[in-house]
Amino acid sequence: MAKIYSHSRISSFEQCPLKFKFRYIDKIRLEITQTIETHLGRTVHDTLEWLYTQVQKAKVPTIDEIITHYTQKWEENYNPEIPIIKKEFTVKDYFNKGVEFIINYYTKHQPFDDNTLETEKKIMIDLDDKGEYKIIGFIDRLSHDIEKDEYEIHDYKTANNLPMQEQVDNDRQLALYAIAIKESVGEEKKVCLTWHYLAHNKKICSNRTNEQLKQLKKDTLNKIKEIESATVFPHNKSILCNWCEYKKDVCPVWNNIVEDKETKQEELDIW
Ligand code: SF4
Repeated sequence: MAKIYSHSRISSFEQCPLKFKFRYIDKIRLEITQTIETHLGRTVHDTLEWLYTQVQKAKVPTIDEIITHYTQKWEENYNPEIPIIKKEFTVKDYFNKGVEFIINYYTKHQPFDDNTLETEKKIMIDLDDKGEYKIIGFIDRLSHDIEKDEYEIHDYKTANNLPMQEQVDNDRQLALYAIAIKESVGEEKKVCLTWHYLAHNKKICSNRTNEQLKQLKKDTLNKIKEIESATVFPHNKSILCNWCEYKKDVCPVWNNIVEDKETKQEELDIW
């Protein structure tokens, strides 16, 4: 049977092998796995997906309609137990951030006529010839410029950080998605990778050659084999622990079971 990996599963191992073990080997499922940031991210993604679904039906929603949709989704899925890591902000602050992201995106991109083909498009690619290893993923939005005959993979980001061009040029996730699109429309077609950094109202683009994509398949397969051959899963204590669902009750590093003197508490509180 094929082994199916996702970009986030691989990234989880790269970020902290112990977290990977808790999630994918021990399969520890906690009641609350969201943070307010993930709640914000999911609600904004859902709202933009709804926007483009309406556009595909030739009904461009008004800004009021889209904010109403965002508000309904926020309330439907909000749980008061969702933790807020940055104590200087309130739930309302996060809600308002989302409103601002959507208004800015709407203003910049209306009338949304870049020919959306699909939203939340599921992709699956083989990493090896025998089909033993596959990558699964979901593209936020795929559009096609008919005049240039170019495809564009869109990804929405709601985090505050803005990466350098070099970082997006080395990003694995959208490049893997580009492989899937090229397998479907033809290797010779241009597929652009586009990230919408909503907190900065900025779009960053990147491209890959076919050679780079072939190499990426090999590198990804090697990374998976490395994960599968791992016998120890060391913790990687970092600022990102603040957003890890296992920090509070499960992770021994944070529950006085393992002593780790390398990271000071003050360093973890600056996020
Ligand atoms: S809290 Fe930090 S060290 Fe512990 S599992 Fe999560 S990411 Fe790893």
